[in-house]
Amino acid sequence: MPGFEFFGAEERKEVNDVLETGILMRYGFDGPRKGIWKAQELEKAITEVFGCKYAQLTSSGTAALTTAMAALHIGAGDEVIMPSFTFVASFEAVLSVGAIPVLVDIDETLTLDPAAVKAAITPKTKCVMPVHMCGSMADLDALKQICREHNLILLEDACQSIGGTYKGKALGTIGDAGTFSFDFVKTITCGEGGVVMTNNEDVYVKSDAYTDHGHDHKGVDRGADLHPYLGYNFRISELHAAVGLAQIRKLDTFLSIQRKNNKALRAYLEAIPEVSFRKVPDEAGDSCSFLSWFLPTEALTKALVAELKEQGILAGNFYWYANNWHYISKWDHLKTAASLNRLSAQQEQVLLQLQTAQFTASDAIMSRCISTSISLLWTDEQIREKGEKLAAAVRKVLANNTVHA
Ligand SMILES: *Cc1c(COP(=O)(O)O)cnc(C)c1O
Repeated sequence: MPGFEFFGAEERKEVNDVLETGILMRYGFDGPRKGIWKAQELEKAITEVFGCKYAQLTSSGTAALTTAMAALHIGAGDEVIMPSFTFVASFEAVLSVGAIPVLVDIDETLTLDPAAVKAAITPKTKCVMPVHMCGSMADLDALKQICREHNLILLEDACQSIGGTYKGKALGTIGDAGTFSFDFVKTITCGEGGVVMTNNEDVYVKSDAYTDHGHDHKGVDRGADLHPYLGYNFRISELHAAVGLAQIRKLDTFLSIQRKNNKALRAYLEAIPEVSFRKVPDEAGDSCSFLSWFLPTEALTKALVAELKEQGILAGNFYWYANNWHYISKWDHLKTAASLNRLSAQQEQVLLQLQTAQFTASDAIMSRCISTSISLLWTDEQIREKGEKLAAAVRKVLANNTVHA
C-alpha cells in the first residue's frame, strides 16, 4: 500500500520548486510565488486521474471527512451510519461535527452490510458512510439504492482505497462526496494530507471555504475575502501538496505492482481449499493494497495468528492481535465517551450504549479474517518465500486442529 516505498528524486524536485520561492502557503503571495501553485496543480490532477468534477485538498484525511460532513450540512444530532470496522478517524470526524455515529455490522465485503444499514435507519439518519477498507469496496449499488429510497447522503470514506474502482468509477467519486487520506502509510502520501472529492459544485464551494476559515476566495486579495459562514484551518501546505504531485504521477505504477504482488501471494493460499477470500463486489476494481482472506473458524484463525506471530511472518488480524485502531472491540475510549472536552449529552449517551451493543456478525467475520498488506518493494523471490511460509503455516494449523475444527 504505501507510496513512501517509492519516494525519491521526483518528490524532491517538486518540493524544491516550493523551497526556491519560499512560498509555503497555498493562497496569496501571487507575485513572489512565481507561478508555483502546487496545491492547485494537485487538485486538478486528482479531478483528472479519478474522474470527478471537484477536489478540495485538506491537511489530513480526517479533516477531509470533517469538511465533507460540514459541506453536506451534517451536524448536531444527525445520525451517520458507519461500520464497526474502520480506522478511528471515521468516528472522530462524525463526533467533531456534533453528529452521532451509529455503528452497524459489516459483511464479507469488510464494510457495511446493506441489511444492517437498512435496519439502523431512523428519522434522524442523515448519512450513510461506507468505508472502503483495505483497498476494496462496499456494495455501492445496494447502498446507493438505500440512500435514494430514504433520501440520505452517501459519503464514501475511501481513504484506504486510492485507485480502486466500482463499475468503472473511482472509489470516492461515486457518493455525494468521498475522501482520500494522503497520510504517510497510504497508497499516495503527502506526508500528511487528504482530499474531498465531489461532483456537486455547492459541496465543493463550501469545502473550499470551510478548510480556510470560511474565506469565500472571491476578494481581490485575502483581506477582502468575505466569510459567509464559519470555517476552520484544514489547509494543506504547498510542501505537502508538492510531494503528492510527484506521487500521483506514479499511481499507475503503484497499482500495477500492488495487483501483481497481490495475485502472486494469493496463488499460494488459493491452493488450500479451507481458505476463502474477502467478497469484492467488483473484482476488477480492487486496488489490491491488501490481501484479505478467511479461515473457516475463529479457533483456527486464532491458532494461525499465534503461529504466524511466532514465526515472525507478516499477516494482520484486527480481532486477535494487530492493533487497537481498527475494530470496535478495541475502541474503549469511544465506548466510555472519554473526551477531553464535553460531548453533547446525546453523543455521550449513544457512545455509552456501545458498551453493551453486540456486533455478532462483525465478530464472526473479523475473528476469521487475515489482512496482509502488500508491499511495493517485494521481489518475486521474497513473494515466493512469503507465500510458501504462509501456506505451510496454514497447513500446519489445519493439520493440528482437525479434531477441534
Ligand atoms: C487513514 C484513514 C483516514 C484518515 O486518516 P488521516 O491520517 O487523518 O489522513 C480515515 N479513514 C480511514 C479508513 C483511514 O484508513
